[in-house]
Amino acid sequence: MLSRFSYKRRLFFYYSSIFFVIAILFIAFQYNREKHYRVSQLENTLNSITVISNNYIIHNKITETKAFQTLDSLVSIFPSSTIRLTVIQNDGTVLYDSEANWHTMENHANRPEIQKAKYSDFGKSIRKSATTGLSFYYYAKDYGSYYIRTAIVYDVSIKNFLKAERLFLLFIIGIIIIALIALFLITERLGQAIVALKDFVVKLRLGKEYDNIPKLPNNELGTIGEQIIKMYQSLKKAKDELHFEKEKLSNHIYSLTDGIALFTPEKTKIVCNNNFIEYSNIITNHSSVSVETIFNSNTFEKVNRFVDSADGKANILPRLEYNIERSGRHFTIHCVVYQDKSFEIMITDITRLEKRRIIKQQMTSNIAHELKTPVASVKGYLETILESSNINVEKQKEFIEKAYSQSNRLADLINDIGVLNKIEEASDHFTMQETSVLQVANDVFDNMRQKLNEKGFETTISVESSDIILGNSSLMISVIQNLLENSLKYAGENIKIELKKYHEDQKYIYLSFSDNGVGIPEEHQMRIFERFYRIDSGRSRKLGGTGLGLAIVKHAILLQKGRITIKSRAEGGVEFLFNLPKYV
Ligand code: ADP
Repeated sequence: MLSRFSYKRRLFFYYSSIFFVIAILFIAFQYNREKHYRVSQLENTLNSITVISNNYIIHNKITETKAFQTLDSLVSIFPSSTIRLTVIQNDGTVLYDSEANWHTMENHANRPEIQKAKYSDFGKSIRKSATTGLSFYYYAKDYGSYYIRTAIVYDVSIKNFLKAERLFLLFIIGIIIIALIALFLITERLGQAIVALKDFVVKLRLGKEYDNIPKLPNNELGTIGEQIIKMYQSLKKAKDELHFEKEKLSNHIYSLTDGIALFTPEKTKIVCNNNFIEYSNIITNHSSVSVETIFNSNTFEKVNRFVDSADGKANILPRLEYNIERSGRHFTIHCVVYQDKSFEIMITDITRLEKRRIIKQQMTSNIAHELKTPVASVKGYLETILESSNINVEKQKEFIEKAYSQSNRLADLINDIGVLNKIEEASDHFTMQETSVLQVANDVFDNMRQKLNEKGFETTISVESSDIILGNSSLMISVIQNLLENSLKYAGENIKIELKKYHEDQKYIYLSFSDNGVGIPEEHQMRIFERFYRIDSGRSRKLGGTGLGLAIVKHAILLQKGRITIKSRAEGGVEFLFNLPKYV
């Protein structure tokens, strides 16, 4: 029932109960002491009266005269009118009584005080008087031939004690009141701290934010409270930091381009990102969002065995890595087992890298192949000159010129490889900035003007000076120059070339480069941007083509975040359509 009350009240109730018990015990002890004191005082008085009465009887020789009546005058001078005096003969016959007619009184031999007085110094008894009906304290003493008994109304009652000890009781009540007030204040103070702490803790448990820390008293309880709050604060700080770190980690996991998943030692998923689901589905050829199913697949059998046998307690975390290929895509599977035997599987899509590696390989062999012919030619011409002693000067000059032309081809080839390599590998080298398409086009066309005129080419540039792109001028020079050189080389004679802006939107400028020459057959258009792809290798080589021109064009546009396509013109010739981001 007490639990319904507040802690403060309970504390007050407990303390005051203890205090009351102690106070009652103290009053009882005091009462008892007082009672004993009074009884012994009473006995002293009664004893003195018996002694005086005996002296009086002896002095007045009353036993001989039998004039017990004279004792009345002694009784009249007793300090209290309530004192009763009785003289009883040895056999119990009442010789005198100050209160009643002793002649009619019954024998007193069996009275307890008389019985006790017979065998000890004195006898005493507290009982109701049959004569008066009042409670008396009887005190009797044996004087040889008679007993002298004195009696007084016995009133050592609580009532009288309380009456007599009024001041003492007032003092006790005062102390009780002061103590209760003090107790109330103490419990209030203790309770306040405890209630404040309780409210604070409950608030925290319910997940409510605490704005104001309760004011705690400057004592041990306050210190405990403060320590609890400090502990909570540091715990909360650690929890918040942990939460933040977890958030960072999961953001990181979800933004990773790799597929990653963490598993418990029992192979239950802890966390995984979308890429992991996608990649594991491709690898297992099974559509499922529950990633645990990978452990049933043959592809992950290696991981399964590795995880089962890995020793998580080893100093270096056990790792497993292997590559697999599925549906034309290449993946690296990487597994790490942690100390607690939980483990991580990471799937990396290496298709792009793999393709790049293959392209690089092809490129290297293509370059070697491309270099072989001009190097062999140069070597052949020079060997002929050196070895043939009968060769005339004119022939020698012809061979040297041919060797020179082949070395130019080599230089062009090396230059184009260099440009392509730079675009692909060192893209940082090209800073994107405000670039005028018209200015670049004018510069390139003007540089080639002589050649264009020689072949009777007609050129039109329909681009405005306000057409500014976010690009790089040297990349743009490569684009326009390669396209122009191709038209010059392959389109034919008396050709019309046009560079125009055919569209623009908020983000891009759309350009078209076209000629009305022989064009490129549609079956070649798909592969025309590949490195070293030529329609007619012999003709291309003869005309000084490296097979890299359109690959440079494509990559230069891609690097500037544009796109390029090719189409045949209905009226003949080829048209390259490309867009480039606007400078805004
Ligand atoms: P190349 O260095 O051989 O010129 P490109 O990549 O520049 O290599 O061109 C690939 C092939 O595309 C050329 O060999 C040529 O046959 C064809 N080609 C390119 N541009 C034109 C064009 N304007 N007209 C006709 N054919 C072209």
